[in-house]
Amino acid sequence: MMNKLQQVVSFVRDQYKTDKFIPLHEPRFRGNEKAYLLDTIDSTFVSSVGAYVDKFELMMQELTGTTKAIAVVNGTASLQVALRLAGVRPGDEVITQALTFIATANAIAYNGAVPIFLDVDLDTMGLSPYAVNLFLEEFGELREDGCYNKATGKKISACMPMHTFGFPVHMDELLQACAKWNIPVVEDAAESLGSYYKGKHTGSMGLIGGFSFNGNKTITSGGGGAIVTNNLDMGIHAKYLTTTAKKPHPYEFFHDEMGYNFRMPNLNAALACAQMEELEGFLADKRKLASEYEVFFQHEGIKFRTETQDTKANYWLMCVELADRTERDNFLKFTNDNGVMTRPIWTLMYRLPMYASSQRDTQRNAEFLEERIVNIPSSVR
Ligand SMILES: *Cc1c(COP(=O)(O)O)cnc(C)c1O
Repeated sequence: MMNKLQQVVSFVRDQYKTDKFIPLHEPRFRGNEKAYLLDTIDSTFVSSVGAYVDKFELMMQELTGTTKAIAVVNGTASLQVALRLAGVRPGDEVITQALTFIATANAIAYNGAVPIFLDVDLDTMGLSPYAVNLFLEEFGELREDGCYNKATGKKISACMPMHTFGFPVHMDELLQACAKWNIPVVEDAAESLGSYYKGKHTGSMGLIGGFSFNGNKTITSGGGGAIVTNNLDMGIHAKYLTTTAKKPHPYEFFHDEMGYNFRMPNLNAALACAQMEELEGFLADKRKLASEYEVFFQHEGIKFRTETQDTKANYWLMCVELADRTERDNFLKFTNDNGVMTRPIWTLMYRLPMYASSQRDTQRNAEFLEERIVNIPSSVR
């Protein structure tokens, strides 16, 4: 008789039909990737301008239903610039979750601002509107130019929820809480390409949002990111800032703001375009795998995480919730020892030295999830 963990390993092996090492998430290139890359090389337009950059931006606009999408070098850069455009200035504070990948907090710090870590919801694993309300009732002070933190006297100039593993945050409630305190919402949608909340694509509901196309994400451009917004002026400004803020002129160099060289090379955009064509198929296979995992884990008495009401998740990284830390550690050890990669959720941001002194609330749910959530292989088959 196989024990429970042996069953898990053999179930995952059956899904991927291999005896070799099974990674958490690997890319698939079965479409026009090679053709578009060769086309880019033949055209000589491999670098900062080119037709694929424009095409990819249009594809992102269409997918997310936004008025402007801007391709950038990576997801972290997309968030850094999105926060700046939302009005984050050095010395400000930004509300976010501690249960996230490091880039969320770093993007805040790159703007000279400091994060305030608030709790997540147990169901979505994303920033909790309840926690945001509770915090602002206690510490918020509404002034003419925005919301201030009574504890520090600093301006809270943005709120950045993150759609964990592609499960959308409770956006209506969060947008309502932030609107009440006049705080713009910047969505970290890095993990949620293809995820929807009440029919709206993640990243499109706040003032501005950012995506990542890193190698381990749902689709990849090698490295890359995108900013999306429904504010056309802000979108045009985003393109300007990420392309060195140069005044258009046939030969003169004049830059009127401190911009960035954050543009996505055309070579990467070519890969991104080919991957976008594959997205629907990727999402369909991931949904199928998720439903197979759900049935299997139910039988094993392990909780497999599924999308919440009113949302459609992309099932980027799928995960199970173990009973406690011991069960989690046993699960991690056995699966990794047997060549099936699994991984605990991130260490909470305030446990890291550079964010240890940040203001935070109880973190009851974040700490509960930190001890129990494990990601399991989620690649398209
Ligand atoms: C991947 C990711 C990013 C940024 O991605 P890069 O493209 O690697 O810079 C930001 N936030 C979250 C939550 C992510 O998972």
